[in-house]
Amino acid sequence: MISELRFPLRKDTSRKIIHIDMDAFFASVEERDHPELVGHPLVIARHPSDTGGKGVVTTANYEARKFGIHSAMSAQKAFELCPQAIFKAGNHQKYSEISQQIRAIFRRYTDVIEPVSIDEAYLDVTVNKINSKSAIKIAKMIQFDIWNELHLTCSAGVSYNKFLAKLASDFQKPKGLTVVLPDDAETFLKALPIEKFHGVGKKTVPKMHELGIFTGADLYEKDEMELISKFGKMGYSLYRKVRGIHDSPVNVTRDRKSVGKEHTYGTPLTTQAQVTAQLRQLAERVEASLEHVQKHGKTVVLKVRYSDYTTVTRRQTLPEYISTKEELFYQANLIWEEILGLEQGIRLLGITLTNLDPMAYENIVLPLWEKKEE
Ligand SMILES: [Mg+2]
Repeated sequence: MISELRFPLRKDTSRKIIHIDMDAFFASVEERDHPELVGHPLVIARHPSDTGGKGVVTTANYEARKFGIHSAMSAQKAFELCPQAIFKAGNHQKYSEISQQIRAIFRRYTDVIEPVSIDEAYLDVTVNKINSKSAIKIAKMIQFDIWNELHLTCSAGVSYNKFLAKLASDFQKPKGLTVVLPDDAETFLKALPIEKFHGVGKKTVPKMHELGIFTGADLYEKDEMELISKFGKMGYSLYRKVRGIHDSPVNVTRDRKSVGKEHTYGTPLTTQAQVTAQLRQLAERVEASLEHVQKHGKTVVLKVRYSDYTTVTRRQTLPEYISTKEELFYQANLIWEEILGLEQGIRLLGITLTNLDPMAYENIVLPLWEKKEE
């Protein structure tokens, strides 16, 4: 470790990175599609009176935020803060489709895209499809295209690394465009409250404060060894980040094309009740894997192997994405009812979901899947 620390720090400013973050995404989509909602505090969650207070806020529009409502808050709490707020259940199918439309706009400029969540992505435009030297111009074009074609707004951050680009997109919201040039990076970072540093979580903030670190400037003053001893890897990384150094590449996610589970039975299944129970179990396991990769898909494949080892595979493509065990079981069971063949005994069953697309939610706790806070 010591020898590594002796190397002088190098700031790579050769890349051009844009971070795009949609403004109050789900709420803006609903306002766009239901103009009567505009101007009212709007909370995307089921009304707590319909759920016994269980729901979670996925997005609040800017009017609702004035009352202190924010995403991941319980819908009950949101209701207490603002009883007159309009609660609207989210339509994730729709948001996911719009997310794909946004992705298609990005692809006009670059294929080096790293989606962070349904409404957020990094783009590397160092080399780009319109042969522009200006990342600022591309960011503006993307904002314009999204507004012009989808009637939605986003905020953009432009810089030479992902860390700065993300901070920049968050700097002015909504409809912001913030550029952090290499020469301005340290000034920009020193002025930021430590809470704003991406990667400094809620648990770390009090520890930072104990050490007298309230801003980037305070962090900058700290000795590297002290930060490492106090925060480990994060300390190492923060020492660099506050100096504008962050070399993580924009990762083009190689899409996993399918998620499937199958099971071979030592004793062949011979009753409908057994098959139903097994399909339910497989659907549950597929759901768990989908949750893990944060994806949903449109094509369900059922595989059945009989006692004589003949194997039948049938697929059904749906008009809409599915991801839950209930949907998976329902679809697999429909296919099963078409093929049947219990009299031969079933040696293997498998359910696979293909035609997958990302369904990642950062900073958003969905009632369906609770994602760990980073
Ligand atoms: Mg957003």
